[in-house]
Amino acid sequence: MSKASETDLVQYPHLYIGGEWVLPEDGGVIASLDPSTGKPWAEVAYAGKRDIDRAVSAARTAFDGAWGRSTGQERAALLYKVAAIYRERAEELTLLESRDSGRALRETRGDIAAHANWYQWFASLADKIWGQTIPMDESVHIFTSRLPVGVVGAITPWNAPLLTTAWKLGPALAAGCTVVLKPAELTPVTAMELAKIFDEAGFPPGVVNVVPGYGKGGAGEYLVEHPDVDKIAFTGEGNTARSILRTGAATLKRFSFELGGKSPHIIFADADLDQALNAATGSAWAVCGQSCALGSRVLVERPVYDRVVEAFAERAGKVRVGMPLDEATHMGPQVGPEQLEKTLRYVESGKQQGANLVTGGQRIDTGAMADGYFVQPTVFAGVDNSMAIAREEIFGPVASLIPFDGEDEAVHIANDTAYGLTAGLWSRDVGRAHRVAARIRAGIVWVNTYRYIRWTTPYGGFKASGWGRENGMEALDSYLETRTTVVSTTGQFPDVYAT
Ligand code: NDP
Repeated sequence: MSKASETDLVQYPHLYIGGEWVLPEDGGVIASLDPSTGKPWAEVAYAGKRDIDRAVSAARTAFDGAWGRSTGQERAALLYKVAAIYRERAEELTLLESRDSGRALRETRGDIAAHANWYQWFASLADKIWGQTIPMDESVHIFTSRLPVGVVGAITPWNAPLLTTAWKLGPALAAGCTVVLKPAELTPVTAMELAKIFDEAGFPPGVVNVVPGYGKGGAGEYLVEHPDVDKIAFTGEGNTARSILRTGAATLKRFSFELGGKSPHIIFADADLDQALNAATGSAWAVCGQSCALGSRVLVERPVYDRVVEAFAERAGKVRVGMPLDEATHMGPQVGPEQLEKTLRYVESGKQQGANLVTGGQRIDTGAMADGYFVQPTVFAGVDNSMAIAREEIFGPVASLIPFDGEDEAVHIANDTAYGLTAGLWSRDVGRAHRVAARIRAGIVWVNTYRYIRWTTPYGGFKASGWGRENGMEALDSYLETRTTVVSTTGQFPDVYAT
């Protein structure tokens, strides 16, 4: 990165391929916009088809070479170094990610401070990858071995660029894979900083390659098409995943998909209401609503429904929307004009379908926020689960409050969705909490808490929310193949044609 002066655009002219900083051959330069001003603040190289070929070839060469024969301890040592450097640079990464994505500094800081734990924990697993012996009969000795999948194309979204990257690179590298990372075109900056960290940690050339670029018709699609890529690890939208599946079908790659959510956050009348409200309001507007895990459908038992609606309205008034780099700001802007328009479209649809707009729903375009993509925290009451605002992922700070009566209806509404990523429930009744949690079709259910996500906790979706799991041992599994070896203890094999 070079910083010529305060007013100049920050420059990242190179791609990181094969351990070198190289100019794009057939790519170019992407201007990255600051979502709080709508103006470019950085220029970042992007990869074309030939650049993807170079990156995949470097990753393949590394995989077929010394990296493919590396020991778990060697890989662990490198990942521990990444974790250490990441910790040192956390504040710098925080500032860059807030600038590039528009996420409020106070949120980004907490998030990024934790990322090193992912690299550290997966480092700790790198030398514990082993198979099983399988008892059969005394004529054979059977064992399994776990082998890295190969070259991984990691394709990440703009809403949590560094986090979604850590979730992929940690387990992939611990497993012994090599990686070509393509970050979202809207937020490429921190991926280039990450490339520097891997370079400094001493990863051999080609093990990690970072190539920003466009998705459809660009670097992302080339990566999916490429016959030498063994697996695509993707976070993003369901329709993109469908398109990736179609493109990747020709080469029968492995896929893992972390997709959208429309998570139910259920508040029973016997809940500790203050705590439930902290979680439900905090999660409704976090990341300006741009996270798949948020409780965007708040299901409230009827006896406390009006109180919860009132409290949501009151707390919406306390959300400080503002410039992301201002320490006081709770909620920054949406990432770009398309996302802002999408949110405002859903607000209109909610009104038209008969939901009651309690507060918010407007773009904020005054003062310092005039040119950014800011929107008010929004609350709809009287929402029916059939409405578009309850069925579709908005990815904006819009809470839809849905009333219900009793456990069965809560479970019915919670599961009446195409998605199944996360869910939360609040109740003081332990039996009820277990009964309801056990009936919810989602990859993670939080009881009397929300958004507790760690490196150890498997995370991923049922139904249209994805394939496979990130985090936990499951994540490591998804970057491994199993080989079964059967060894005869006799060396005898009958001649079937003898008689
Ligand atoms: P997209 O699906 O549009 O993009 C995700 C990534 O895929 C980007 O890098 C994008 O590149 C790339 N891409 C787009 N089209 C193709 C293609 N045809 N082939 C290969 N790559 C492609 O999602 P967004 O970036 O808009 O992220 C928001 C979405 O991600 C939300 O819908 C959200 O639900 C989901 N999400 C899910 C999470 C989870 O864990 N389940 C976490 C975070 C987000 P480009 O940027 O150039 O378009």
